Amino acid sequence: MKTVGVIGSGISSLSAAAIVAKAGYKVNVFEKNEQLGGRMRQFTESGFTFDMGPSWYWMPDVFEKFFNNFNYTTSDLYHLVTLDPGFQVIYKNSESIKIPYSWDKLLDLFESIETGAADNLKKFMSGAEYKYMVGINNLVYKPGLSLRELITPETIKGFFKLQLFSSFSHHVRKYFKDERLISLMEFPILFLGAMPKDTPALYSLMNYSGLKQGTFYPMGGFKKVIDGVVKIATENGVEFFPSEPVTSINYDDNLIKIQTEKRHLKVDGLIAGADYNHVETKLLPTQFRNYKNEYWESRTFAPSCLLFYLGVNKKINNLEHHNLFFDEDFDMHSNEIYTDPKWPSKPLFYVCCPSKTDSSVAPEGKENLFILMPIAAGLEDSGEARFEYFEKLMQRLEKFTQTDIRNNIEFQKSYCVSDFEKDYNSYKGNAYGLANILAQTANLKPKIKNKHINNFYYTGQLTVPGPGVPPAIISGQVAANELIKKFRAQL
Ligand SMILES: Cc1cc2nc3c(=O)[nH]c(=O)nc-3n(C[C@H](O)[C@H](O)[C@H](O)COP(=O)(O)OP(=O)(O)OC[C@H]3O[C@@H](n4cnc5c(N)ncnc54)[C@H](O)[C@@H]3O)c2cc1C
Repeated sequence: MKTVGVIGSGISSLSAAAIVAKAGYKVNVFEKNEQLGGRMRQFTESGFTFDMGPSWYWMPDVFEKFFNNFNYTTSDLYHLVTLDPGFQVIYKNSESIKIPYSWDKLLDLFESIETGAADNLKKFMSGAEYKYMVGINNLVYKPGLSLRELITPETIKGFFKLQLFSSFSHHVRKYFKDERLISLMEFPILFLGAMPKDTPALYSLMNYSGLKQGTFYPMGGFKKVIDGVVKIATENGVEFFPSEPVTSINYDDNLIKIQTEKRHLKVDGLIAGADYNHVETKLLPTQFRNYKNEYWESRTFAPSCLLFYLGVNKKINNLEHHNLFFDEDFDMHSNEIYTDPKWPSKPLFYVCCPSKTDSSVAPEGKENLFILMPIAAGLEDSGEARFEYFEKLMQRLEKFTQTDIRNNIEFQKSYCVSDFEKDYNSYKGNAYGLANILAQTANLKPKIKNKHINNFYYTGQLTVPGPGVPPAIISGQVAANELIKKFRAQL
């Protein structure tokens, strides 16, 4: 039986491992950290359970399609609930808009803000739905190895409708004038780690997911998704080796050699789901690398972030599960991330309060808070900076919630650039990989295949199709299927 090594146990690696094992190969997963799941890990302290990374569950069909490969449905593995409101956005003067799950109510809401906006939302969403259907059901499953992959009957027929070459920012402004609606429509682009003006309008497919499909939450947190994929992988024979980082990869006599902190082994195939830059620059000898250091220096990285995990000993008013504080200037903060990277002057931030939905993540009568402020990747994150921004964000949060939070904190932990570097070997401490700007979309992303080593593929948020949990699940499937195809061709 051929053996395959997988580096890392993030969701992309787990997805790849399960698919390769199901095809009948022996798969061993090596993970640097004690816990599986990468950026989707969880920790419990003082009775509070915190998801360390993702909190927005969008594109439920991607999860479902993945589990269906193994004759499971999502509901066999975890309990998914629909959030209603999906999220709230807080604007200047503490004005807030809550996004209802019901499409009709959403249309009414848009119309109440701007005359004609309901009809425009319908038109906008019809285009977004088309892009979602073609993009998510078709294009994102391509390995990005040849331009011919992108030429399908759907893409030829709908080339102009996909809007690969027009800017998202321009696209939104054709439909809406009210600044609140514009920022509401532009916010999902932040998930792609780029400024709306640099992002192709193709990505209005994200609006389809967030506003039309809805926002969901796996009860117990995102670790339940990891547990589900680990269960499936284990059932298919995958073996896991946590706390065992890979320290080097070599290639000789058509065999891939992996050195971990505990063993030396030879494998027939390799899928690397650790940060692409780390694998290339720290694990591979120069002659086997796809890219030079200058390549990485020239890439536009998605942001890193400053995070606070807080356990609060009382209930907090006015918060929903997801809360976006857009009470400061969006463009100024974006510029301080991408154009002129520095600690932001007046940052936007996001507060997740999962205890509003899930009583298992905080003791009774208490609240679990996850606060995220995007910052440029690579910034120095001293203790003073963390403290300064904690105070700034808490002042705004306390003002909006009319609650004294700082005097009621039972547990507090911050997490920033240097933690991403230390925990995940993340290049410049990036949180979400590479930005999805046009010059880094689809075939223009770092290649999924190693050019020099036979049967060696990359997966994860730095290669196709990009950042986010659903794309990472797809990335694992794409890498696994390429490797399986290669093995079968070698028979
Ligand atoms: C704070 C935050 C919030 C987010 N919010 C959302 C959200 O709401 N919704 C959403 O869809 N997405 C969100 N994302 C993005 C999403 O979490 C990621 O895109 C996705 O989890 C990445 O998965 P991955 O498999 O590519 O990488 P990772 O999860 O980073 O996995 C890589 C793994 O490789 C391991 N590794 C590194 N070096 C080695 C080595 N030498 N040997 C062995 N193992 C190694 C790492 O420890 C890690 O476990 C968020 C991310 C962050 C950080």
